[in-house]
Amino acid sequence: MAAQTVASTTDSTVNTTDRTADSPVDLGPAAALSCRECGHRVPLGPVFACEKCFGPLEIAYDFSAYDTEELRKRIEAGPSNIWRYAPLLPVPADVAGKPNINPGWTKLVKADNLARELGVTGGLYVKDDSGNPTHSFKDRVVAQAIEAARAFGFTTLSCSSTGNLAGAVGAAAARAGFRSCVFIPHDLEQGKVVMAAIYGGELVGIEGNYDDVNRFCSELIGDPAGEGWGFVNVNLRPYYAEGSKTLAYEICEQLGWQLPDQLVVPIASGSQLTKIDKGLKELIELGLVEDKPYKIFGAQAEGCSPVSVAYKAGHDVVRPQKPNTIAKSLAIGNPADGPYVLDIARRTGGAVEDVNDEQIVDAIKLLARTEGIFAETAGGVTVGVTRKLIESGVLDPTKTTVVLNTGDGLKTLDAVADTGLTATIRPNLDSFREAGLA
Ligand SMILES: *Cc1c(COP(=O)(O)O)cnc(C)c1O
Ligand SMILES: [Zn+2]
Repeated sequence: MAAQTVASTTDSTVNTTDRTADSPVDLGPAAALSCRECGHRVPLGPVFACEKCFGPLEIAYDFSAYDTEELRKRIEAGPSNIWRYAPLLPVPADVAGKPNINPGWTKLVKADNLARELGVTGGLYVKDDSGNPTHSFKDRVVAQAIEAARAFGFTTLSCSSTGNLAGAVGAAAARAGFRSCVFIPHDLEQGKVVMAAIYGGELVGIEGNYDDVNRFCSELIGDPAGEGWGFVNVNLRPYYAEGSKTLAYEICEQLGWQLPDQLVVPIASGSQLTKIDKGLKELIELGLVEDKPYKIFGAQAEGCSPVSVAYKAGHDVVRPQKPNTIAKSLAIGNPADGPYVLDIARRTGGAVEDVNDEQIVDAIKLLARTEGIFAETAGGVTVGVTRKLIESGVLDPTKTTVVLNTGDGLKTLDAVADTGLTATIRPNLDSFREAGLA
């Protein structure tokens, strides 16, 4: 293991002289990559699959030098973005000074109106990630991948995307001075296409669904044409994935360094859900929160519900589906982290549930009407699933519950195209009265 010291709240320098050949790059407390399946360790690098068993590689940290209270103070004194948690992320200690889009520290909204409507008495919160720079949670993961790309000397950033990731990569690449070339299914919502294109990188539509796009990217990585490219969610995936831990850190810090009892998290590839669990476990191990049980509930759209179907059938493996849903940002038919999501839902006493397109739209409107939050379809999925799980008695309304809204409704306007003007009137009072508005 790479020896490393993180001296105090003020001196955050990593002792690079102690760093062994195990970790030739400086990514802060990240010591190595380790296989989630067999534990095999390799040095930090742009690799994502275990050479022994093909299992996914994850970041292994050395947190041994941290004192709990010093760490807490250092975090609280940090910037109002994800870099307040730099000591727990695979990034250099001076990350906050580098050109990045600095996402995070989004609002945790106490949703009392929604709670009343749903009959939740134990405290209901919406973690609103539409407040990120490109209006989705994806800025968190891209911000990590950018630092890894810098460390490994990549000059082009790429990804396969269901829409939001393309925008996040475009923006981060523009700001950090990388070339970007990203790939999306050709039939995405206009809001996502424009959002991905506006930053000036290359945006390529692929004739196929996300799983086709992903397959294409895997081919490109193995080809000379893709040499020198950092695919944030493929060869940089171990680093990218860690960004989701910041959701767990923020939620707990915003609750006054406490674990919530229940979390409702959307599932696309399942990466976010698994890393939220990892983040919560780290906070417990570091002593930053008191250890108590928490339950993680996964949310999918019925039109792309491979994990939910497997959960309900009691299966450990996830059978791929062909997606057909308005929740396009979650439309991954063959989710890489599906089996791990099943494991976490079962181990924590949570569940995985799905809602149909009509319930998604209803939930978007419910959240907007009660809390003034306009969620994208993925937020409709989590709110809709929360409602469904309360009605079925699976989610306990007397417990503290956090629901994630991971994107902005302005990107998925088509889903709510039936809303609009109450009336059109002539500019006089008679017309106003005639319309029944007085
Ligand atoms: C990508 C995405 C997610 C979750 O993705 P995972 O692949 O499961 O990590 C959730 N919500 C939105 C809006 C997204 O774009
Ligand atoms: Zn392995």
